[in-house]
Parts: sequence; C-alpha cells; structure tokens
Amino acid sequence: MAEPKRVVIVGGGFGGLACARALDGTDAAVTLLDRHNYHLFTPLLYQVATALLDPSDIAFPLRRAFRKSPNVRFRQATVTGVDLDARTVRTHAGDEIGYDTLVLATGGTNNYFGNAPLAEHSIGMKTLPEAMRLRNHVLSCLEEAEQTREADERRTWLTFVVVGGGPTGVEYAGALDELLDLVVGRDYPSLKRSDARIVLVEGLDRLLGAFHPKLGRYAEETLRRFGIEVRTQALVEKADDSSVTLRSGETIHARTIVWSAGVRPSDPLNGAPRARSKRLEADEYLRLRGRDEVFVIGDAASVATPKGELPMLSPPAMQEGRYVARAINTGRSTKPFHYLDKGTMATIGRHAAVADVRGVKLKGILGWLAWLFVHIYYLIGFRNRVAVLASWGWNYFLRDRPIRLIVRGDPDPLADEIDRG
Ligand SMILES: Cc1cc2nc3c(=O)[nH]c(=O)nc-3n(C[C@H](O)[C@H](O)[C@H](O)COP(=O)(O)OP(=O)(O)OC[C@H]3O[C@@H](n4cnc5c(N)ncnc54)[C@H](O)[C@@H]3O)c2cc1C
Repeated sequence: MAEPKRVVIVGGGFGGLACARALDGTDAAVTLLDRHNYHLFTPLLYQVATALLDPSDIAFPLRRAFRKSPNVRFRQATVTGVDLDARTVRTHAGDEIGYDTLVLATGGTNNYFGNAPLAEHSIGMKTLPEAMRLRNHVLSCLEEAEQTREADERRTWLTFVVVGGGPTGVEYAGALDELLDLVVGRDYPSLKRSDARIVLVEGLDRLLGAFHPKLGRYAEETLRRFGIEVRTQALVEKADDSSVTLRSGETIHARTIVWSAGVRPSDPLNGAPRARSKRLEADEYLRLRGRDEVFVIGDAASVATPKGELPMLSPPAMQEGRYVARAINTGRSTKPFHYLDKGTMATIGRHAAVADVRGVKLKGILGWLAWLFVHIYYLIGFRNRVAVLASWGWNYFLRDRPIRLIVRGDPDPLADEIDRG
C-alpha cells in the first residue's frame, strides 16, 4: 500500500483551518502547525479589547477541533524557516518536519512602515495578547486619570488616538466610545465624560476606503454624532509615550495610540517570489510561483484577479483553504481558483453598521442585524456562540460590559510574540 501523502499546514487561522477541516477524514496525513494553540476569530477582537467579550469567547482550541480526526494532528510550534529543496519546515525547537505538500497560511501582522517609535508607543490589534494589552491599558488610563489632580495630565490620560479608518479602526473607536459612556462618571465618579476624547486618524480622504463612498460617509457621520473626532487626510509622523504628531504639525497629547493602519504578510519564507505588497506570489492554482508542491493562501498570499490582488479578509482565506484541500485530495487542480465575493461589513455602534452584500448596501439597524447574524454564524464552536450571544444580550439590555478587568500575565515568549516591523 502506498504511504499516505504528508501534508503540512502552517497556520491554523481562517485559511489553514478551512484547509485542514476539508482534509479531515481523507487519505492525507496532515500536520497542522500554529504558534498558538487556538484558532482566533479576529472580527470580534475589538470586543475583547473593549471589555465586552472574554478572550475564550473568540478563540477555539485547535486540538479540540481535530480531537476525533483520524488523520489531522495539531502541534503548537512556530515555524522559523522552510527548506523548499529539501521539503522540510523548521520549528522554533529546531525540529525539521518533512512534507510532500506544504500549505502556508501564516496570515499577516502589523505594518508600521519602518517607523520604530510608532511601533514602540502604539498598541496593535492583531492578536489576542495585543487585544488584552489594549483592554488593560485603557482601563489603567482611567485609573490613572482618576488619581491625577492636574487637569492637562488627566486629559492626556483620557485621550485615545486610533490610527487607521478601516473596519478595525472604525469598529474599535465606536466600541471604545460605548465603553467610555458606560464607565466614565459611573465607575469613575470624579471623571467627566466630556474630558475624554477619541480621535480617529485616517490617511485617505474618507473612512472605510474599501467600501462604497456612501457607506464610508455614513460611518463618519455616525462616529462624529457619537462625539468622536475624525481626521481624514491625516498621517501620523511621530509618537512618544504621551503624544502623537501629525504631518500637518498638530500634536495630540495622549497616552493611548491604537495602531490599525497597516498590515503586512508574515511568513517564514526567504527568497520566495513576492508581489509589490510583499505577499507571496501565488499562481492561478494558488501554488507558490515555481513550486508545484507548495500552496500559499490567505493574507500571506498575493492572488491576482482582474480587479487586483484579493483583499486581506477571511472569506478569500477560507475559500482558498477549501480549494487547496480539494486539489490535494484529488491530486490535481483542474480549474484555476475563483473567488466568490459575498461582500464586506463593519459595525460602528449600537444599531449602526454598514454592509455591502453582493451589491446590496445596508446601513443603520438593518446593516447592524446583518452584521450580528453573520458573525454569530461564522464563529467557531457552539459554546463560543452561546457565550457571545449572552454577552451581547447582557450589554444590550443592561448597558454593562462586565469584563472590565486589568489582568496582566507574564509574557510568554512563544505565544505572545508581537511581530514589529
Ligand atoms: C482586528 C481584526 C479584525 C478583522 N476583521 C475582519 C472582518 O470583520 N472580516 C473579515 O473578513 N476579515 C477581518 N479581518 C481580516 C482577517 O482576520 C484575515 O484576513 C484572515 O484572518 C486571514 O486568514 P489567514 O488564514 O491568512 O491568517 P490568520 O487567520 O491570521 O491565521 C494565521 C495563523 O498563522 C499562525 N502563524 C503565523 N506565523 C506562524 C509561524 N511562523 N509559525 C506557526 N504559526 C504561524 C498564526 O498564529 C495564525 O493562527 C480582521 C483582522 C483583524 C486583525
């Protein structure tokens, strides 16, 4: 009998998990590697950062996902290198794992465009440790503000600058506003809500650049109505631990800078062909250009279409993962990969969201309901769905975000590594 084909998947995010699930129960011997032992549902990360959800509500243990699988094995490991000629991946522990087929699905990380001080003084929101760091930091700022007698210093603790007007920045700014409304003046009776500022800074001339302009305008108007200051065509030039300076020369005194303005691919390949975006260049069958046995998917991969490169979003990653699994399973790719665009959405606050679903543009409460439904549907794990629904219900009816805890654990060099670049 022929040996089963050894498939190594690096990354248990949206793309890697979809691929591993589609290979579950097939003849392939699949090893799934991830530096974390969980799959992370990133679209709700900002709700962990704003004390609405618990980290465990949006993460799912990868070993649990394949507990009953006859052929998929998970291993927690950071892949530090790939020898394409020898067909092996190297892990942080120095182990070499051989493969017949490799699927690289290592996603993306924060891009600071080489601005090291910005990387040092801002907090990103790509990983669970970063979201928890942000939650701890914002709550600590409120604690500090309450104990500060000096008015300017207090306002600096209470000023929150969010850089990046894409979905993550818009969602985080809206949710932070709601958190401040709930706690300032109540949990912190000596603080005034009017002393707290949120400033959203965007380099383009409008928010939500990937959405229809009408939806971007709606998002901006809604955030302004909440009292959030929106600066468009504004670029951050400098930052230190108590201020941000924009290219216009304006300095905003703030102890919090949230960075959601840039993503770059993160992968352990050296010398591989890359697109201008630095993502690994995939051919029409999602193979790394020039390597038939290596597939690249998700945020790490540049997949060209007539409309340009596919965006760094979860639906392309999942569709690519399933396509690659089919190709591995059947031993060939007959048709080039085709992405079915089902639309994009972003929430802004209570009863306010935007959704562009196959050309149908929704905003306000309809967009918000569509957003709620889609996110519960795609969340992995029944327990997580129940927990998230319960927390949303609690927050909606009681106007309370109960996870206002400042909890700092010891840094874990393997799992908490935050890639700065
Ligand atoms: C805050 C936030 C909100 C988002 N909201 C949305 C949204 O609402 N809708 C949407 O469609 N998209 C959203 N996205 C984008 C979406 O998360 C990505 O497009 C999607 O996760 C890409 O899937 P992926 O499989 O390529 O990578 P990921 O899902 O990021 O998975 C990559 C995996 O690889 C692992 N990994 C990385 N490097 C290594 C290594 N060297 N060794 C081992 N393991 C490694 C990581 O731990 C991770 O588990 C959001 C992203 C963020 C950060």
